[in-house]
Amino acid sequence: DLAPLNRALLSVSDKTGLVDLAKALAARGVELLSTGGSAKTLREAGLTVKDVSEVTGFPEMMDGRVKTLHPKVHGGLLALRDNDAHVAAMDQHGIGAIDLLVVNLYPFEETVAKGADYETCIENIDIGGPAMIRAAAKNHAFVSVVTDVEDYDALLAELETHGGQTTLGFRQHLAQNAYARTAAYDAAVSTWMAGAIGDQTPRRRAFAGALAQTLRYGENPHQKASFYTDGSNRPGVATAVQHQGKELSYNNINDTDAAFELVSEFLPENGPACAIIKHANPCGVAQGTTLKEAYTKAFDCDRTSAFGGIVALNQPLDAATAEEIVQIFTEVVIAPQASDEARAIFAAKKNLRLLITGGMADPRGGGLTYRQVSGGFLVQDKDTGHVDAADLKVVTKRAPSEQEFTDLLFAWKVAKHVKSNAIVYVKGGATVGVGAGQMSRVDSANIAAIKATRMGEALGLPESPAKGSVVASDAFFPFADGLMEAAAAGATAVIQPGGSMRDDEVIKAADEAGLAMVLTGMRHFRH
Ligand code: 5GP
Repeated sequence: DLAPLNRALLSVSDKTGLVDLAKALAARGVELLSTGGSAKTLREAGLTVKDVSEVTGFPEMMDGRVKTLHPKVHGGLLALRDNDAHVAAMDQHGIGAIDLLVVNLYPFEETVAKGADYETCIENIDIGGPAMIRAAAKNHAFVSVVTDVEDYDALLAELETHGGQTTLGFRQHLAQNAYARTAAYDAAVSTWMAGAIGDQTPRRRAFAGALAQTLRYGENPHQKASFYTDGSNRPGVATAVQHQGKELSYNNINDTDAAFELVSEFLPENGPACAIIKHANPCGVAQGTTLKEAYTKAFDCDRTSAFGGIVALNQPLDAATAEEIVQIFTEVVIAPQASDEARAIFAAKKNLRLLITGGMADPRGGGLTYRQVSGGFLVQDKDTGHVDAADLKVVTKRAPSEQEFTDLLFAWKVAKHVKSNAIVYVKGGATVGVGAGQMSRVDSANIAAIKATRMGEALGLPESPAKGSVVASDAFFPFADGLMEAAAAGATAVIQPGGSMRDDEVIKAADEAGLAMVLTGMRHFRH
């Protein structure tokens, strides 16, 4: 299973680590072939390199579009060394075997991320690189193919262990990774093109991911799981830096994402905000004059559920807030930054995970969401829908007061992040009752009210916090019954999309109950 390594072709865009690798190979007596820019780098470092153009007898041409696309290269990569006919063909055509291919591709993904124009993106589609990678990977029985700078050390270690040779198992791993790389590369090209030409429903979609973490288990302990990043590099759980605490679990990652996406709805310039999440639903969301106040108000929505929850903040974690958070058991805190004092307070809680994102997610940033179903997947735009005060249509005799308006808009933002059917009671910039994931809107309204009342009792309040609240419904009330449930709980104003066949009935009921109601004309289902 061991394969010798006598000749290598190095052709890389990212020259990181190239010289060190080449020196180590040269020291083992490996002959080096290379393309224009890579060869130049190696020569400048004092290494002896043969140009691929010398091997092929063709100059690199057409702005580098054609450099290595030649039988002298591809024959050297693809020939089966133990096949007499292949060996005879090599002899006949003067093709030398290439035992190692080191390639990293034109930086297509980075070019797109920089917002480059169409032509520039097209020019950054590597052609010869993927062709060589796929050839070398196919012939992994004899050839090693390295496509990541991170694998240089592993290659050198392999050669060290096996007297300058590589094992089949090692080459297989390299080949598997290589095909994932070319697949991801073409997926990036195709995804970019779909966007560039404005095709929302291309006949085929391709996806790619890079392993970020092998998880201990999945949603349940008997499920294996891992975490992949999609390369989009957005602020959030996938790119956050963990400062302390145990490794994140599958459920932690899912819930932390929900928490951070929700709190990102509240722009930092509009004041501190906090969201506490349990099982992907918020059990408390609040704004405050200070971050500590926002946390406390969010906590007071549902102290029972907040235990073991995920806390997301839209401002740097400060000491005062950190002091409050450590009063109970919390799984994860995610924030754009954290002060040294706050970190010191958290340090005493070894199990508490602190994630720093360096920024907030853009709630209007766009992108796609995917959901897997048996035998396929659903793709849709991210729900970036939002309404401003000007978009709201008052449909009742009474218009909401200024305070009610503010709370209605707050409740609407939260409802967008609650699993349907979602009913959210809000008072004074804080949720006081959240009804999530029920199959009937009446039940959601009822459960949220019961929770509010129970919490009011626990806090020793004279009445249910739902009294005098406003209420948001993620979708229209099909009948007046859900609305009446909210009115009975003490809500005074309502925000909902409208659009039901029985809107008239619902509006009439609201008027009779003295409620103010506004319609958004937009729905926020979330499942
Ligand atoms: P260098 O900097 O060595 O001139 O170019 C290295 C880059 O060229 C690598 O990213 C490699 O994948 C790419 N490359 C190698 N051969 C070809 C080819 O024939 N056509 C194109 N378009 N790119 C190539």
